[in-house]
Amino acid sequence: MTDFTATRAAFHLPEGMIYLDGNSLGPLPKAATERVAQVVRDEWGDHLITGWNECGWMQAPARMGDRIGKLIGAEPGHVVVGDTLSIKVYQALAAALDLNPDRRVILSDTGNFPSDLYMAEGLIRLLGPEYELRLVAPDNVAEAITDDVAVTMLTEVDYRTGRLHDMADLTRRAHEAGAITVWDLAHSAGALPVDLSGAEADFAVGCSYKFLNGGPGAPAFIYVAPRHAEAAQPALSGWLGHDRPFAFDLAYRPGEGIARMRVGTPPIVQIAALEAAMDVWDGVDMGDLRDRCIALSERFIAAVEAACPEIELASPRDPQQRGSQVSFRFENGYAAIQALIAQGVIGDFRAPDIMRFGITPLYLGESEIDAAAEAIARVIGDGLWNKPEYLARKAVT
Ligand SMILES: *Cc1c(COP(=O)(O)O)cnc(C)c1O
Repeated sequence: MTDFTATRAAFHLPEGMIYLDGNSLGPLPKAATERVAQVVRDEWGDHLITGWNECGWMQAPARMGDRIGKLIGAEPGHVVVGDTLSIKVYQALAAALDLNPDRRVILSDTGNFPSDLYMAEGLIRLLGPEYELRLVAPDNVAEAITDDVAVTMLTEVDYRTGRLHDMADLTRRAHEAGAITVWDLAHSAGALPVDLSGAEADFAVGCSYKFLNGGPGAPAFIYVAPRHAEAAQPALSGWLGHDRPFAFDLAYRPGEGIARMRVGTPPIVQIAALEAAMDVWDGVDMGDLRDRCIALSERFIAAVEAACPEIELASPRDPQQRGSQVSFRFENGYAAIQALIAQGVIGDFRAPDIMRFGITPLYLGESEIDAAAEAIARVIGDGLWNKPEYLARKAVT
């Protein structure tokens, strides 16, 4: 059994704050403060350039990749970290299209995160007008996987509603239709069990600053299935993905396997924070996490719905169809979230009317869930949201 008291004790949670936004930015693992200080002070400070050899900096992206890989069912040696998720989406999509050269259609859904769609648009601009980004409603993805689709580019858990795609089923359908799959695990990694290998996923990407708690700017990850490892062509052919970076050859030659998905210099200080965050996961069973997440989510939904009949559940009601977040629709959602933040309950807002709450059992329990539901009852039931200071929009929502 996972000891959730121990995982909770591993995080710094500000006094008086109930944090339901771990789906946007995970909280600080206490050990990260010292680990980052140590890397800065002892490794950077004392080793300087030799740190690349003496402190394991060059291997850090693969080492972190394997630690994340364990949580997402990846084979060892097939995940690497670096860059940001948008970059990794571009790399995975470009490599996947290249593996299916006779087709021109990228299939995605209207629930996908805009940056993924924007990256696809940018890639299409480069590849030529015969390429098409085809968007369908999330519920229609299965039937839209026709035999002209080159690549399905899907985010497993919808960032707005928490709706969960069936990765194994859609991957099987894609393969039957001759398509290659790119799965975005931004809201899956560290949120629920993922089995990339079992689902026979082709490519996967995700970020480490949401449910994995690696900190703002923590590097993204990319997975390439072993069967594609030597065939996948890196579109962003930077020197650290080269077969021999320090030969300084004038011509690019992709490195072995997943190493070719590296681009440039890895963010060593940020990786130090991620390393401390990954230590927390060592004792966590993803099945336990999922069970606890569902129990807490059901409790939250029941309490909010009982107190606030005017707001509507935007997430699927069936917990098996949800990721690790619960969303509600409320016309004045933006102001309501501001009023909640003023009460110490941190959720977030996604246009046009979605109030999002991340349910993260690593550091949340029944008492926080109940207190958050009570705060929502005050803000919405008693109309606390309706004040000028809550109605004015800030840049980051
Ligand atoms: C959070 C998120 C991103 C963000 O990408 P960055 O490059 O890390 O800013 C992209 N795609 C999805 C699906 C996300 O949820």
